[in-house]
Amino acid sequence: MSLPSSFLDRMESDLGSGFPAFLDALNQPPPVSIRRNPAKPSIEFVQSEPIPWHPDGRYLPARPSFTLDPSFHAGAYYVQEASSMLLFEALRQTVGIGQPLRVLDLCAAPGGKSTLLCSAIGEGGFLLSNEVIQSRIAPLKMNLEKWGHANISVSNHDPQDFGQLAGFFDVVLVDAPCSGEGLFRKDEDAASHWSEANVAMCAARQQRILAAAKDLVRQDGVLLYSTCTFNELENEQNVQWLVDNGGFAHEPLTFPEEWGIAEQKLGYQCFPHRVRGEGFFLACLRKTGEQPIAKGTTNPPKDWQRLTAKQLPSVQEFFTQSSDYDFFMKPQGEVVALPKATQEALLMVASALRKRSIGIEIGELKKQDLVPSHGLALFNGLHADLPKADLTKEEALLFLKKENLWKPDWLRGWTLATYEGLPLGWMKVLYNRSNNYLPMDWRIRMALNG
Ligand code: SAM
Repeated sequence: MSLPSSFLDRMESDLGSGFPAFLDALNQPPPVSIRRNPAKPSIEFVQSEPIPWHPDGRYLPARPSFTLDPSFHAGAYYVQEASSMLLFEALRQTVGIGQPLRVLDLCAAPGGKSTLLCSAIGEGGFLLSNEVIQSRIAPLKMNLEKWGHANISVSNHDPQDFGQLAGFFDVVLVDAPCSGEGLFRKDEDAASHWSEANVAMCAARQQRILAAAKDLVRQDGVLLYSTCTFNELENEQNVQWLVDNGGFAHEPLTFPEEWGIAEQKLGYQCFPHRVRGEGFFLACLRKTGEQPIAKGTTNPPKDWQRLTAKQLPSVQEFFTQSSDYDFFMKPQGEVVALPKATQEALLMVASALRKRSIGIEIGELKKQDLVPSHGLALFNGLHADLPKADLTKEEALLFLKKENLWKPDWLRGWTLATYEGLPLGWMKVLYNRSNNYLPMDWRIRMALNG
C-alpha cells in the first residue's frame, strides 16, 4: 500500500518503536466484525469470537456475502468495524446502559453508531439521528428501519439548525467527517485523498460542527466526540477547544490493558497494531458550564389528525402493546405511531426542525384497512400472532429479489415473510398467488447463484 510520506513521517515520530508494528498491521487484512441486534431473534455465527467491549459484538473468521444472508436484510445484525463499538463502553461508563436518555447523533449516516445508540438507551429514551447530506438520508433510514425501534427521529439538517434544541440532550455524539487515516487499509481511496491541507480543512469543519453541538448538551450531560483518524489537529486539539470554549471537562474512562487502547491526554485511540480493529479516536466530555434549556411546543403538528375510534382497531391489531402508542394520520394518509413514553420529546423535535420524521410510519389507511409499511414489518413491537410464512433460505432470497411466492397452505391476506423467525417483509396472499410488498429499493440486485 502506498501512503503519503508526510503521514508516515508523522506516525513514525508519534509511535516511535511501535511504528514497524503499525506499518505491518496496515498490510494485514482488516478484521471482519458485526454487532447483533439484541431486540431481534438471535442468530449464530460459526467460529465467531466476542469483541471484548461490546456484549453483542463478534469477530467473524472471514467476510461472508452479507447480501446473500436473509438475516442481514432483516436487521438481525449490523456490519460494523470493531473499534467504533467502543462507543458502548463510553456510554456504560458515563451515562449507563438502558437509561431513558435523550440522545442526538449529529453526523449519523449510514447509521452504524445510531443503531448502537438505539440498542443502548432504555424505555423512555429516544434517539434523534441527523445527517446533513440529503443523499445519505435514505440509507440511514433503511438501516434504522431494519433495527426496528419506534423511539427515533431522523432529520436532515446542518448542525447550525438545532438552536431551538439547546440544552435538550443528555448525550450528543459527534462522529465527525474526518481525513480517515484510520481507514487506510480498508479504503485505499482514503489514502489517495489525504493531504496536510485536507487534515487542516477537516479540523476546521469539525470545530464548526462542535461549536454548534456544544450548546445542545444539557448541563451535566455528555458530548462524545469521535473520528477515524490519528492526527492531533482533528482529535485532541478539537477536544481542547471544547474544554476552553464550550464549558466542558474531559471525562476519563478506564479500559483493561489487554484491550490495547492507547490513553492520550484528552481521549482514547485505537491503533490497528494494538487493537483488533481500525483506527478510531474517542473523547468524552462532561458539560460543566451552565446551559439554558430551550423551550418548545409538544403539540402534534397542526396538519396531523389523531386516528378515530373507528380507525384504531385495524391499526392496533398489528402491535403487541398498542396501548403504548398514539396513532396519527399525516395529510397524505400515512399513519405514524409515536411511543407514549417519548412522545413529548419527539414532538419537541418535530416542532424545532423542518426536515425530520418522527416515530414509525406504519402504513396507509385505505377505507378502514391498514396497508402496512415495510418499516412495520421490521418493527420490534409487531404482534407475535400475525399470519406468517416461514421461508427456507432459498425462498427468503427469492422473496428479497422481490419475486412473488405462493403456497396453497398460506392464509389469505397480509402475511409476514419470515426467515428463522425474523420478519423480512409483507406479502399479500391471494387465492392462487401473492403480491410481494418489498420496496423496490430494498431488493437484492445481484444474481443469487453468484
Ligand atoms: N456515524 C456514522 C456511522 O457510524 O455510521 C458515520 C458518520 S461519518 C464518519 C460522518 C458523517 O458526517 C457523514 O455521513 C457525512 O455526510 C457527515 N457530514 C459531512 N459534512 C458535515 C458537516 N459539515 N456537518 C455535519 N455532518 C457532516
